[in-house]
Amino acid sequence: MKEFNYIIIGGGCAGLSLAYELEIHKKLENKTLAIIEPRPEYKKDKTWSFWKVATHNFDDCVKKSWKNFSINMQSKTKYIECDNFPYQTIDSGLFYEKINKKLKENKNISFYKNIKDININNAFIFNSIPSLKTDNDNLWQHFYGIEIETNDNFFDDNIFNLMDFNCEQKGCVHFFYTLPFEKKRALVETTWLSKINDDSIKDYDIQIRDYIKNQLNIKKYKINYKEEGAIPLFYSSNIREKNKINIGTAGCMTRLSTGYTFLNIQEHSKYIRENIENISSAQIFKIAKKYQFLDKIFLRVLEKHPEKMPNIFFKMFNTSSNTVIKFLSNKSNVFDDLAIIARMPKWIFMKSIFK
Ligand SMILES: Cc1cc2nc3c(=O)[nH]c(=O)nc-3n(C[C@H](O)[C@H](O)[C@H](O)COP(=O)(O)OP(=O)(O)OC[C@H]3O[C@@H](n4cnc5c(N)ncnc54)[C@H](O)[C@@H]3O)c2cc1C
Repeated sequence: MKEFNYIIIGGGCAGLSLAYELEIHKKLENKTLAIIEPRPEYKKDKTWSFWKVATHNFDDCVKKSWKNFSINMQSKTKYIECDNFPYQTIDSGLFYEKINKKLKENKNISFYKNIKDININNAFIFNSIPSLKTDNDNLWQHFYGIEIETNDNFFDDNIFNLMDFNCEQKGCVHFFYTLPFEKKRALVETTWLSKINDDSIKDYDIQIRDYIKNQLNIKKYKINYKEEGAIPLFYSSNIREKNKINIGTAGCMTRLSTGYTFLNIQEHSKYIRENIENISSAQIFKIAKKYQFLDKIFLRVLEKHPEKMPNIFFKMFNTSSNTVIKFLSNKSNVFDDLAIIARMPKWIFMKSIFK
């Protein structure tokens, strides 16, 4: 069986981002790489969005970028500018196409459907298959979205809606998220932060249909695309082995309070590329300790007081947009952190420190 210098298990966001980073920096001219990916074909399956607080290789896969967003709760709406850190949405279809086209140019890179087809003994492995506990005690971010097209101009495509809490909460945290790509086309998503993984929150089609009809006031539309997923708001086991490093969700790259992962994946791909010659001593990715601590408290509050979360999110955005975006994107300084902490309800957060 064939041997390789490097093996990437899982050719999804993290696996392909890393392969691309290595390829464009010519780290695979004299090294071989096998990518293990079982999917029969690549097609658009996700839209990755984030505030652009760092550079990445995929600006040409950006479907749309916004400099304004809003948050709604009950009768209040907050409008926020994000000129310094535009919010970008990456089309995974364009991302897969761009990367696969580039990787095919290098004969040292091969794709396999199953790891059993190759010899793994002497390779360095980058693994993106998480080992997650799926018991009922963990929080997940569940979501389901549809991209709709209307006959008439309906959306203001200069502003996206990050969270609309005007919906049934069912003892969880529930909001709608709308990304208007054009005046007639938008992704509308129903999002639940919950331990519950059952049908009581999964009548997604009905939730979205009612939201579009009653809140957005759109009567006629067609559906172009659907996406469904769940992001674990807890970490996969991430043990560093001599010849193996975890990447992506498996590498604990998700910010637990938000689910944002894409830019962390890009940052760590860059780090691996910079250290590839000495990969056996490279570090695993770690979200800074202060965010791990604050997110833990935040998620405890969310579990115990889901009904308070719309107001807490609303208050969090009551500070300068740069501050809150940097905080949510792991780029805040101590002054930003203090500004966010000052807006949180002190007593509830204090109590949650001690459980
Ligand atoms: C629907 C969805 C939307 C998201 N949106 C955002 C967002 O807007 N912003 C953001 O920052 N984050 C987002 N995330 C979180 C995160 O960015 C993504 O989950 C991202 O795809 C994680 O990359 P990954 O490589 O770890 O996992 P994946 O992209 O899921 O890649 C894992 C790959 O492994 C393959 N695989 C599975 N089993 C095996 C096996 N046994 N052997 C080999 N390969 C296998 C899969 O086919 C897949 O291609 C989203 C997540 C989901 C699920």
